[in-house]
Amino acid sequence: QKSLIDFRRDVLERAIDFAAPELAKRGLTWTISGPNGSAKVFGDPDRLYQTVLNLILNAMDATEGGGTLTATMNRRAHALELKLEDDGVGIAPEVIGRIFDPFFTTKAKGTGLGLAQAKAAVEEHGGSLTCASTLGRGTAFIVELPLPELEH
Ligand code: ADP
Ligand code: MG
Repeated sequence: QKSLIDFRRDVLERAIDFAAPELAKRGLTWTISGPNGSAKVFGDPDRLYQTVLNLILNAMDATEGGGTLTATMNRRAHALELKLEDDGVGIAPEVIGRIFDPFFTTKAKGTGLGLAQAKAAVEEHGGSLTCASTLGRGTAFIVELPLPELEH
């Protein structure tokens, strides 16, 4: 069910709030920044929430023993961008091309479905999900969602 939503409040903060106790328990600190003013997108808040939560869960798995999760929102000309960065284990260049494939996992008990579903959800909103990672340093996922016409 799509409607005009405030991405930061209805999606990002909801996901972070839900994850907060577990983040704290695992010794992860987090920050949220930007944008100034409202950034509305036309979308399904529940689906986008699940998407962001999946990215947060992956970041938790990647930062055993603590770390930092940084969520940065930016309003571009025609898109709203969320960059979710962790300083965890990173992704090996040999496998980075496969992380969005259904059932691809490097975890003993992983399903390999989180990123495939996340990408499908974002693309179904007319947006994109991309990843940049450095092994041993950390990973960034970038969610881009089109701004509604009236916001241009
Ligand atoms: P799962 O979490 O069940 O393994 P996903 O589709 O969510 O499945 O992720 C696929 C794979 O991508 C993971 O197994 C992991 O190797 C890699 N990955 C995803 N997010 C991160 C991250 N933030 N840091 C390091 N590796 C990641
Ligand atoms: Mg996952």
